Amino acid sequence: MDVNEVLDEVLAAAKHHSGQSGGGELAPYLREAVGYDPDSIGIALATVDGDVHGAGAWRDRFSIQSVSKVFTLALALSTSDQVWRQVGREPSGDPFNSFVLLEYENGVPRNPFINAGALAVTDHLLSTLGESSGPVLDLLRAESTSAEVAVDPAITSVEQRHRHRAAALAHVMAEYGTLRQDVDLVLDHYFRQCAITMDCAELALAGLVFARHGARRDGSRLLTASQSKQVNALLLTCGTYDAAGEFAYRVGLPAKSGVSGAILAVVPQRCTVCVWSPRLDAKGNSVAGTAALEAFTSLTGWSVF
Ligand code: GLU
Repeated sequence: MDVNEVLDEVLAAAKHHSGQSGGGELAPYLREAVGYDPDSIGIALATVDGDVHGAGAWRDRFSIQSVSKVFTLALALSTSDQVWRQVGREPSGDPFNSFVLLEYENGVPRNPFINAGALAVTDHLLSTLGESSGPVLDLLRAESTSAEVAVDPAITSVEQRHRHRAAALAHVMAEYGTLRQDVDLVLDHYFRQCAITMDCAELALAGLVFARHGARRDGSRLLTASQSKQVNALLLTCGTYDAAGEFAYRVGLPAKSGVSGAILAVVPQRCTVCVWSPRLDAKGNSVAGTAALEAFTSLTGWSVF
């Protein structure tokens, strides 16, 4: 199977979802900060030995948003399993920025991939390392081998301007004692993590650590094989907002999506696929990106099922 031909075919299949006819809108709060064409679509595939293939807008840069949450979790787990005192491991079935379960579950967020959960994981990193966004950025730069990976200050300031809901979640968790660090500090690091900009190739390369059972590019370990299995399980059950069931049904891969339209999917022991297309469905997942990944697993048979 020729990978470049597969990617071209996948993009062709997804293209009719990438225009207005496919439906979906840009995340409203990001509209003021980004200048990209809403109908862009790019895809990159990185193999476990580090080869990268791409098609479409695969070298265009976008903020990784919630895709950062899986790297933040991996770093936190690499420092201590105690992170599980601050966050759960169940799908929420509620929107990514919801308050509902937080109030019912003593301020412990349901999983690390909803906003409240990522704030708790960021708090954990600040407690254990004294830093969060710096080490996340370093990890992404090292694994993607790209010094261009950076925090976009324009996106950070949009995140800060639209901070009310995230700030409210953080304050509720501080009240319950889930957050132990200064709330504004946690929010600042969280927003910087959301505002890290990358392209599909860089993000696919960085994600290989989850396809290699926790091994980094240089052969050292970020996670044990068992922790990597756990992270991939959480990606499958919680990685695509409250559409994780439908996404697993259509695509059949562990994946994390973000409101910029990025999705990073993991094919354990084989490769990663990163797709980016900004129009989102009602749950916050890229419309064309999900269609592309569905076409990818249908064509290749490379799903975990
Ligand atoms: N910055 C976004 C927020 O905090 C990230 C959401 C996402 O990508 O899911 O709402």
